[in-house]
Amino acid sequence: MQILKFGGTSVADPQALARSVAIINDQSLQNKGAQLVVVSAAAGVTNALLAIADATTPATISANKEFIYERQQQFLAELPKSTDYANWLAESLAPLFAELDAAVACRGAERDRLISLGERFSARVVSAYLQHAGRYARYVAASSMLVTDNTFGHAEPDPAATRAAIQTVLAPELRNDNQLVMVCEGFIGATPAGEITTLGRGGSDYSAALLAEALDADLVQIWTDVKGLYSTDPRIVPQAQPLAELSFAQAAELATFGAKVLHPKTLWPAMRSDIPVFIGSTLDPSGGTTIRREVDSKEAFTALALRPNQTLLKITSPDMLYSYGFLAKTFAILAEHRISVDLVTTSEISVALTLDQRGSEQALSDQVLKALSALGKVEIKQNLALVAVVGASLNTQPQVAATIFSALGDMNVRLICHGASPHNLCVLVDDEQGPQAIVQLHQQLFRHLHT
Ligand code: ADP
Ligand code: ASP
Ligand code: MG
Repeated sequence: MQILKFGGTSVADPQALARSVAIINDQSLQNKGAQLVVVSAAAGVTNALLAIADATTPATISANKEFIYERQQQFLAELPKSTDYANWLAESLAPLFAELDAAVACRGAERDRLISLGERFSARVVSAYLQHAGRYARYVAASSMLVTDNTFGHAEPDPAATRAAIQTVLAPELRNDNQLVMVCEGFIGATPAGEITTLGRGGSDYSAALLAEALDADLVQIWTDVKGLYSTDPRIVPQAQPLAELSFAQAAELATFGAKVLHPKTLWPAMRSDIPVFIGSTLDPSGGTTIRREVDSKEAFTALALRPNQTLLKITSPDMLYSYGFLAKTFAILAEHRISVDLVTTSEISVALTLDQRGSEQALSDQVLKALSALGKVEIKQNLALVAVVGASLNTQPQVAATIFSALGDMNVRLICHGASPHNLCVLVDDEQGPQAIVQLHQQLFRHLHT
């Protein structure tokens, strides 16, 4: 059984969709068996839906509705009229257009339902285009399979309930018909009560891995606009090159530290269930990166990642000296408010830690700041970028830190984290210096790609 996930640019318009359909068909010829296709919203649509959800003026709402409406109409316009699948598509999109039409700024459950619209449009469109290409394709709602809690905007999946739902809804059909291609939404799930939830930005990759796990699939394919996981973001360093293979551990660190090509949680189900993940490009399907448990790499440095918009939180207190329990109290406050911490360093009388954008919004609430201030002096520095160097055995190789710091030259490094993981060395620099830090490090650590 194959799981193929297509990202926003791969389903952006009828031409992109034709390339994705060709890949689905080609994969079906190469690896016989039923297929589950997981799709994102067409590029730009989730942003437009979020703009509606957060809108403060009617003009913003109508401009974004117009954009989404036109995006979807182009798919309807390209299909031959009066065919079964074109009629089916028009009928099944009609209630979604009505939802779009009625949309207003909103929060919570209503907001998740609204921002899930992009994927709900896409899954139906892709299913009709596969039928147009002669495939026996059917749409299935991800909300009937992927079970989550009700943390709207960042829902937590329930793998056991998802497996139970999939084994009743989808698995028997896929097992019985190896010509079948089922299409569902990425990014969305539903609570046990049936309310639609979303998994966080870029969450369709995570959906594909969760569904693969529940279906006992033996490979997840992530089809996107780049030919795999590169030595760094090719938009920042044009000389960056795709890696042929990578271990789960290293890929997970790259995704966590900002390699947008994979949602950071994608590798959790893959690692748990030992399912390899392939990343390839719909623009050029030859090549790609395979991520699996073990790989045979001898290179010290594998890749670099950049995560902008980080916040540094520092708490200083002389009470920390020769006392115990200070760190426990700090982390208890963060845990109570469900704030996730990335990097941590400590000295005798202070602790410094980094938070991502969501964590920073939570931590800067009056309630949290008040609780932390009771422990010591709180200092906050925003607009920082986390630069991660990922590689093999970085904690034991000589010269690693020296090489990295000589590449960074006279950049102002605000925090260094090294030693906790064998796979990474992280530094924090000012946001505006982030891309330049990546350029300089890439030139130094991947010299062979710059000649
Ligand atoms: P999709 O819409 O298909 O999910 P994304 O935009 O989420 O695609 O992810 C693909 C993008 O990730 C690429 O266009 C690239 O700019 C960015 N990216 C960041 N770091 C890396 C990396 N190390 N390797 C490849 N792509 C990366
Ligand atoms: N459409 C969602 C987003 O833009 C999910 C995804 O594309 O993976 O964040
Ligand atoms: Mg993505």
